[in-house]
Amino acid sequence: MSAKNSGRRILVSGNWKMNHTHYEAIQVVQKLAALLRATPLPDDTEVSLHPSFTSLRSVQTALESDSVPIALGAQTCHFQDSGAYTGEVSAEMLAKLNVRYVIVGHSERRALFGETDDIVRLKLDAVLRHAMTPILCVGETLDQRESGVAEETVARQLKAALEERGPEALESIVVAYEPIWAIGTGRTASSDDAQAMSAMIRGELELLGGKVSHAMLIQYGGSVTPDNAGELLACADIDGLLVGGASLDADKLVSIARSGA
Ligand code: PEP
Repeated sequence: MSAKNSGRRILVSGNWKMNHTHYEAIQVVQKLAALLRATPLPDDTEVSLHPSFTSLRSVQTALESDSVPIALGAQTCHFQDSGAYTGEVSAEMLAKLNVRYVIVGHSERRALFGETDDIVRLKLDAVLRHAMTPILCVGETLDQRESGVAEETVARQLKAALEERGPEALESIVVAYEPIWAIGTGRTASSDDAQAMSAMIRGELELLGGKVSHAMLIQYGGSVTPDNAGELLACADIDGLLVGGASLDADKLVSIARSGA
């Protein structure tokens, strides 16, 4: 049974990374609001926006004051609730801003900021503790794919983050499959490869949490554009998209979000 056959929703998430000042962020949200007012998204489609920390409050206010049907998201958080962690932002702080989704373990965080599987697991704990939904990123490097260990790499990342969690916690997690070689490179995984890995992920989730795996959303991420979004969303085990570069532009993000219809 595929997720879509079971009537699941589609989640399209825009990861703005370190882009857009808070002024620019407000402008994009205003444009998104106008586009969605003119033509609402399909009922089964949800969009989340993940601006930088400095824009979170402005984006929250812009979304809530205009009742824009977009969920607020963050790009990471610290795993402690408070303390002497200069420069960090806690999950508790995000929850107070009505953040609903938090990206955890993005490959850029893993590669550039030393996020290990252990830290990813602690961050996941923190996000769940504050009743938000983690978007857990997993994915292989080009070397790992070419040497035939892509599936094993992704399975190991899933296990490190998710083993020994009850079905309730597993049900409130989104997994984003992001082949690292496809992020920001303009090189997208073929829909066959993306589907095959997503099906493998669903199987692993089943092993980790039993029947809840069909309730969990699996996103694909890596150079998604309005041109390839439809083909990716048509795959049986892809329930959404995690979009970097293209999400900076309101027209492109809305066009991608409408691609699952
Ligand atoms: C990402 O940031 O998770 C991402 C997939 O980026 P891009 O869409 O730019 O490849």
